[in-house]
Amino acid sequence: MKNISVLGSTGSIGTQTLDVVRANGDIHICALAAGSNIKLLEQQIREFHPSVVCVWKEEKAKELASNVADCSVRIVSGMEGLIEAATVEQAEIVVTAVVGMIGIRPTIAAIEAGKDIALANKETLVTAGHIIMPLAKQKNRKIFPVDSEHSAIFQSLNGENRKQIDKILLTASGGPFRGRKKSELVHVRVEDALKHPNWSMGKKITIDSSTMVNKGLEVIEAKWLFDVDVDQIQVVIQPQSVIHSMVQFVDGAIIAQLGTPDMKLPIQYALYYPQRRFLAGDRLDFAAMRQITFEDPDMETFQGLKLAYEAGKKGGSVPTVLNAANEKAVSLFLDHKISYLQIAEIIESSMNAIPVIDQPSVEEILQTERATYEFIESRWMA
Ligand code: NDP
Ligand code: MG
Repeated sequence: MKNISVLGSTGSIGTQTLDVVRANGDIHICALAAGSNIKLLEQQIREFHPSVVCVWKEEKAKELASNVADCSVRIVSGMEGLIEAATVEQAEIVVTAVVGMIGIRPTIAAIEAGKDIALANKETLVTAGHIIMPLAKQKNRKIFPVDSEHSAIFQSLNGENRKQIDKILLTASGGPFRGRKKSELVHVRVEDALKHPNWSMGKKITIDSSTMVNKGLEVIEAKWLFDVDVDQIQVVIQPQSVIHSMVQFVDGAIIAQLGTPDMKLPIQYALYYPQRRFLAGDRLDFAAMRQITFEDPDMETFQGLKLAYEAGKKGGSVPTVLNAANEKAVSLFLDHKISYLQIAEIIESSMNAIPVIDQPSVEEILQTERATYEFIESRWMA
């Protein structure tokens, strides 16, 4: 029996994690956490019997506590509660599937408490990779990537010497607007941007995929996970999402992981590494598949990707500004308060305006997040 906690259990990755748990039958859920969806949390409590459950919003936590008064579960709330869920004693692995920088503190707390991390929450590594990676090394804890590309890279590196990586070929579907020019994206509506061709995901990451900021965040995520320079990471558009990423070694050999697009595979691999388990679902059929095609990314149209490369190279607090500006801009776009192309515009202006801090502490990362939000509010929401 394995013991795990799932932060963000009501979301796209969280619910698929629980599907994997249900299908295998040999994992115990110690703790769950979500933002406000107490209806689904109640079902999860009754099915998986966690001992601690965090609901971010205090009033919702109280409501849930009264709804599950017949269950033996402690309901907690806020950041203190999220950290409690991340550090529950019996858990060996914490799945971090919350969305956004809210994941930084609980991830650090989980590593400090001796947990391995199954990491979906890329925003945490993008902004605090310089704190999290050395901490995991010092505490001798593992970070198992859940992001499909990073899982593919991790699988391609099995048994290899990481010092012999020449470059990482990070694949991207290109999103719903692949092939369009900037002038064709002026009138993009929220509904258009939420239609991803191959993957079904939470709203924020779906918008990030359409702007290619998601790929940019993944470049920075890969830099931390695999200890490579940003210049060693090449984004390759592969619209069918069949090749999930590749590693080129110093001798020119390229190793890749392929499969149908299904997040349950990387989730299950992270939970059972180094074992592979049966996973139900479609298999790739090379007889039916006509072709796998490749393109170069268009960094002029998808400026967010170019800005992310720049942020990854500059380092320090710049990736935090990129990420915070993107989180704010995406939420304004989802609320119909700004246009689609303003997302990249807001990221670029924020990166130019907010002072850079080298090696920022967690407090400085959160200060930078606040400064970025204030800058955007004063310029775009006044
Ligand atoms: P969703 O929006 O579907 O889910 C987010 C989850 O986080 C929900 O459970 C939500 O709870 C919870 N949450 C939000 N705010 C808080 C908070 N303050 N405290 C505690 N929990 C909170 O997102 P995804 O599952 O799509 O993405 C999660 C992470 O995984 C992101 O970082 C994303 O980039 C990454 N990822 C996702 C992939 C995917 O296929 N979806 C692929 C690769 C990476 P509630 O439901 O109550 O709001
Ligand atoms: Mg991904």
